[in-house]
Amino acid sequence: MIPFNKPYATGNEFRYIEEAIQAGQTAGNGQFTKRCQKWLEETTGTKRALLTHSCTAALEMCAILAGIEPGDEVIMPSYTFVSTANAFVLRGGVPVFVDIEPSCLNIDPTAIEAAITEKTKAIVVVHYAGVGVDMDPILELADRRGLMVIEDAAQGALASYKGRALGTMGALGALSFHETKNIISGEGGALLINDPKLADRAEIVWEKGTNRSAFFRGDVDKYTWVDVGSSFLPGEVVAAFLWAQFEDARAITDRRLEVWRRYHSAFADAEAAGRVRRPITPADRVHNAHMYYLLTESLDVRTRLIKRLRDDGYMAVFHYVPLHSSPAGRKFGRTSGSLEYTEDLSARLVRLPLWVGIDDATVDRIVASVLDTL
Ligand SMILES: *Cc1c(COP(=O)(O)O)cnc(C)c1O
Repeated sequence: MIPFNKPYATGNEFRYIEEAIQAGQTAGNGQFTKRCQKWLEETTGTKRALLTHSCTAALEMCAILAGIEPGDEVIMPSYTFVSTANAFVLRGGVPVFVDIEPSCLNIDPTAIEAAITEKTKAIVVVHYAGVGVDMDPILELADRRGLMVIEDAAQGALASYKGRALGTMGALGALSFHETKNIISGEGGALLINDPKLADRAEIVWEKGTNRSAFFRGDVDKYTWVDVGSSFLPGEVVAAFLWAQFEDARAITDRRLEVWRRYHSAFADAEAAGRVRRPITPADRVHNAHMYYLLTESLDVRTRLIKRLRDDGYMAVFHYVPLHSSPAGRKFGRTSGSLEYTEDLSARLVRLPLWVGIDDATVDRIVASVLDTL
């Protein structure tokens, strides 16, 4: 069976983990954490990066830093992973689900304004499949209405919108290094702090609500509990693993892009004949080959396609159950406006195997199975 995803290791992970152990620090915020954070700051241009143990954790930090209190509303797409909403629900926030636009399956900027009430605190965008959200109208709207913009850039490593790295345009951005993403550390993530006013508090929230970071820098003379927080930082073993991946991040992305492009050109004729729709990347965006998906004509075709691929030995999958229709989404959130694209497209989307090391012949056989089924 050809898996849907196969986590890639560069070969240097063990070496750096050994170095971390020998350096005598396996708890967090050691040399590898600092190296990774500096790399993120230099690569993305963010003001401050903090490693976290997941993107979920980074989003939970966002909810604290945004000052979400019970009853506060947070506008977000329904078509996303559960953590986008759950992080805010943990603080008592109410997710307000809006529709996606059909070209990139990202939040529809024109649906946001109608969802704003006096309780709205923030807008959370999700850069689906590593293709950037159209940020400019959203940043302009948020500025005009005094709302914080938070980017769920879980899928966005090394991708950009108008030359700006995904995760660096809102006040805060969250990245994921989960093994299903491009750059991985098993579980892992990072918070990008783009609004410098949030940086001091972010460090405190990150280290259990203490001023430990400032104390070790010598900025304060007492190490004590000063705010709410949790243990959001990963240990050095995870950071050491991640450092090996960061060193190869460009090469990993390039190899994924090769597979992505092979699929993309192979399905051009089927798209022209109206049998399937391929992903769209607007000219002002650079994607990172996080995902190769197709939109089939109907749910029936998708069901048949996934079954046929499994019978032929290839794992293809779909996602997401739109959050507004999930049990928890219905309990904790509400919708605004029509969610017709969310409901239609989520029922027709199929994701094909894409990982570093999948060979051209396998990709070609998957393509042949797909074309035979459409
Ligand atoms: C993967 C993913 C997450 C969660 O990332 P973790 O690092 O597993 O917590 C959140 N949002 C989106 C859009 C994702 O794809």
